[in-house]
Amino acid sequence: MTIRLLPPEVAGKIAAGEVVERPASVVKELVENGIDAGATEIRVEIREGGRHLIRVADNGCGIPADEVSLAFARHATSKLADVTDLDHISSLGFRGEALASIAAVSQVTLLTRPRMQTVGKYLRVEGGQIEREEGRGCPAGTVVTAERLFYNVPARKKFLRQPQTEAGHIHDVVSHYALAYSNIRFSLTADGRQTFQSTGSGKLHDVLIAMYGLEVAEQMLEIEGADVSDDAEGERPSSSAPAISGFIGSPSLHRANRRYLSFFVNQRWIQDRSLAHAVAQAYHTLLPVGRHPVAVLLLAMDPGEVDVNVHPTKREVRFRDGRKVFSAVQRAVRHTLLRRAPVPAMAHSPRTWPAPEWERRQSLVSARQGEPASTQAAMELFRPIATEAKPGEELQPVGPVRLPLLRVVGQVGQTYVVAEGPQGMYLIDQHAAHERVLYEQTMGERSQEAISSQTLLEPLMLDLDPLLAGVMAEQLTMLNQVGFALEPFGGTSYLIRAVPAILAVPDIRTAFLDILEMLRLGDDPLAAQAEERLVAAVCKRAAIKAGQTLSHEEMHELVRQLEQCESPRTCPHGRPTVLHFSVEQLEKEFGRK
Ligand code: ADP
Ligand code: MG
Repeated sequence: MTIRLLPPEVAGKIAAGEVVERPASVVKELVENGIDAGATEIRVEIREGGRHLIRVADNGCGIPADEVSLAFARHATSKLADVTDLDHISSLGFRGEALASIAAVSQVTLLTRPRMQTVGKYLRVEGGQIEREEGRGCPAGTVVTAERLFYNVPARKKFLRQPQTEAGHIHDVVSHYALAYSNIRFSLTADGRQTFQSTGSGKLHDVLIAMYGLEVAEQMLEIEGADVSDDAEGERPSSSAPAISGFIGSPSLHRANRRYLSFFVNQRWIQDRSLAHAVAQAYHTLLPVGRHPVAVLLLAMDPGEVDVNVHPTKREVRFRDGRKVFSAVQRAVRHTLLRRAPVPAMAHSPRTWPAPEWERRQSLVSARQGEPASTQAAMELFRPIATEAKPGEELQPVGPVRLPLLRVVGQVGQTYVVAEGPQGMYLIDQHAAHERVLYEQTMGERSQEAISSQTLLEPLMLDLDPLLAGVMAEQLTMLNQVGFALEPFGGTSYLIRAVPAILAVPDIRTAFLDILEMLRLGDDPLAAQAEERLVAAVCKRAAIKAGQTLSHEEMHELVRQLEQCESPRTCPHGRPTVLHFSVEQLEKEFGRK
């Protein structure tokens, strides 16, 4: 093939793909334009999760009639004049790509009027081409409507998820902008029903209530400005360090993942692993292992200290002095926690070895032996059982697929069960093993359509945020097939009447939310495996945890059940349940051979 310049509409579609990934990206760009236009009210309306229609209306400055058609040209912006402006960007948009991109992959109409003009302007753009342009009366401000998203990009359209899921992402976008701009009234209407509204009162806490509900909002602590005088490290906030405000959850409030951590830099919603890590460190020992805090943190800093021009979606930023930002966030959170929530640190983290002498012995051992050699030996020893030999590879001492009869010796680290069998020693991960047992048990019951279910004494009322409500709506039928009895209760509320018997745990509400989260993250459109995944998620939540002390009888029962499994050697997610140390291996390691 010879080299050719791409026709403009093809190039346009490719570029648009970077900005517009899914309906929520369109909402994000249009909302940002409304904010940049100085709006005090922004209304978002969607149909079918935004696939059919997205409409964003603002009461901002509007676009002058003679500039309207230019707004749809790529790299046309009123927010940046020359390259020096890039060093101190204060608007959300500046790349001049959004309207062009949205118009390249949907059918767009624009209605706009600056307050000072008497007539507004109407414009229709289809596949990037202006189809119609005329004067029209309308309220001051701008309304952009994007219909039939990706109608001309079938490859993208295929990847759109269920309407409820896309609506959930849109809800995430709108509610996060409402957090960053508590002085703007936001509303979101999905298929004719209002699903979110902020008051525009300027109070962040009001938005938290709208977003997470009163129960959660009441457990949030306002960030206290770190007082320089009582700062032990004596590090003074300098001009390059951000000023931090916002709310963080008290340690009793925690979630299964990081989705409830929101960061804003100069009112821009960003994603940043290192900031998430800074918060996690500040909560260190205050939260149970594996749980994540809820927090909304707003960083205000000199625009010259942060580069937002890293990616077309502007979700990632680069700090000039990342370390300073990291420690400022960590200190602000820690300080607030210590001042406002003086909760004693947990007596010991369940991850550490409970044997009192362990640490001392460990250090003696590693002091005596050369570190690398011992690690290598340990690696060798801890190699999981090969389930199948690869061609050309020497056969490892592979046991049968089924487990032999085992005798429980004891428990180590409140995590592993030590057992002995005819072929040597076995270490069993209690959580992974129990997951496997529950999984096979449930799938067995499922094949006979007899999953045992436990009816709750009183039905539990669940009010879901729209993102989880989307997952719920998608999975409701299937959930009801695997032992749950769930009933829609209007809007995003549901009643739990029964749960699978294995899930009769003390805090069913949290357990259920965790399962929905797991399902949400398993963004795998393979419907054939959806049910297995669902059952696996339930079993994961229901299984014994690491860090739980087991009685000898419990361990015995667990091992006995594992022996009866079809595939006892991996958990449903594919991690090993058992490590095997053969007699030969042990003899070799001890120099007996
Ligand atoms: P950017 O926001 O990066 O400048 P866009 O493609 O989003 O690029 O918008 C192009 C231009 O159109 C903006 O710079 C602005 O002048 C104008 N514009 C877009 N949306 C609005 C709006 N809702 N209100 C007022 N002006 C708008
Ligand atoms: Mg923009």
